[in-house]
Amino acid sequence: MSEESQELGITESKSHKPGEWYAEVVQKAGLADYAPMGGFIVTKPRGYALWEAVQDALDGWFKQTGVDNCYFPMFIPESFLEREKDIVEGFDPEVAWVTQGGHDDLEERLAVRPTSESIIAPFMADWTRSHRDLPLRLNQWCSVVRWEATETKPFFRTKEFMWQEGHTAHATDEGAWEEVWTRLDQYERVYEEVLAIPVLRGKKPEHDKFPGADTTTTVEALMPDGKSVQGATSHHLGQSFAEAFEITFADENEDERTAYTTSWGLSWRALGALIMTHSDDQGLVLPPTVAPTQVVIVPIWQADTKDAVLEYCQSIAADLEADGVRVDLDDREQRNPGFKFNEHELNGVPLRLEVGPNEVEDEAVTLVHRPDNAQIVADRDEIVNAVDEHLEVIYDKLYDAAAERLEENVRTADSPEEIMGTIGKHGGYVKVPWCGDQACEEAIKEKVAAEIVMQPLTDEGGTSAPEPVRPDEDASCAICDELAEEFAYFAKSY
Ligand SMILES: [Zn+2]
Repeated sequence: MSEESQELGITESKSHKPGEWYAEVVQKAGLADYAPMGGFIVTKPRGYALWEAVQDALDGWFKQTGVDNCYFPMFIPESFLEREKDIVEGFDPEVAWVTQGGHDDLEERLAVRPTSESIIAPFMADWTRSHRDLPLRLNQWCSVVRWEATETKPFFRTKEFMWQEGHTAHATDEGAWEEVWTRLDQYERVYEEVLAIPVLRGKKPEHDKFPGADTTTTVEALMPDGKSVQGATSHHLGQSFAEAFEITFADENEDERTAYTTSWGLSWRALGALIMTHSDDQGLVLPPTVAPTQVVIVPIWQADTKDAVLEYCQSIAADLEADGVRVDLDDREQRNPGFKFNEHELNGVPLRLEVGPNEVEDEAVTLVHRPDNAQIVADRDEIVNAVDEHLEVIYDKLYDAAAERLEENVRTADSPEEIMGTIGKHGGYVKVPWCGDQACEEAIKEKVAAEIVMQPLTDEGGTSAPEPVRPDEDASCAICDELAEEFAYFAKSY
């Protein structure tokens, strides 16, 4: 490797220093930079393109299922936030406040939204008069600010982050449950079908649900370092928000009733999970579904073969483009093929086509998979089909590797020592019967910084509240030995 390419390449190791490695991949693959203020990042075009890929998929599904996009102000009057005391309590230490406009002190301070229930709900109340106005389904794509004093980790931990927040109101509890499951399904789908990451579904324990919610459901993804990422959440808010904000409606008999509400959100933490899950010591690895460039063609020429090779490459690029493939022909004169290979590897281009004089002569193309360097020679005539097929093969490789890791990393334990030992040694999830008492979680959390990230559910979906998966009738809590009525998944988490 030349000095220059060493400087460009990744120097940290994913297995030895995952934190440093991650920061290096994000910066060197051109996804984000650190902003001058601590806790903020600048998302570069290649990073933003990943967010747009997630957005495009989800936004389409939202709209197919009755959701309308809207936009509410980023500032929320303090008195609005206080109408929902649970939200205030839940977010108080993390709220950023505006106290001055120009040279004047504001009469009432304005919160920079940490989440928008308290500004959206009053309008939902205004817009809901009759049962015919329901269900009301709103979503906004925006950023929110939570002033956490933790170390910045692009896409995982930043004071301002991008997300979507959905807010809905329904005439019945069943309608609200149906909504909760619809959105959780869509979140699961975006992970599985777009990001190539399998997830676990379940609910958060009572003490860890969204402030004011009846139930918080979640999808959790396992990272290669053994920690869990909360991938997205979908909350059944019961009637607490509707009562606080007077979201009421006249039913068929003109009787006034209180609505049921939900909220649901997915943030760009999904990108953090994406980068962390698939990338390696050579740099970024992306599934073709989200890659800004899916295929790069690298011509390999000498002076006497240059024209023929280039022409051949151009015709391939044209065919792929016509097929809708995001293809780049890297015909830069000043860079040699080795440099280009490294650079496109670093940037996570899923499929590389190598074309030299031999390929031209044989009417062939060499395909190289980014994740494992597998090489395949395809016929020039068949190149469009071959590329389509291999982009799918690459997606499956990434998904299968992540699925295998998840499967291998759900373990069981019968005692606090075993829970802590297993998490200490392997990371991953430890599934145990649990009595439901938060004190039992605290006992583990204090010693190994692992917590209950998820509780599995049965009979999900449809229009009803979830039933937890029940252990055997006489099963006892793995921590305190009292009767266990539910399972809990312990893990360290981001
Ligand atoms: Zn217990």
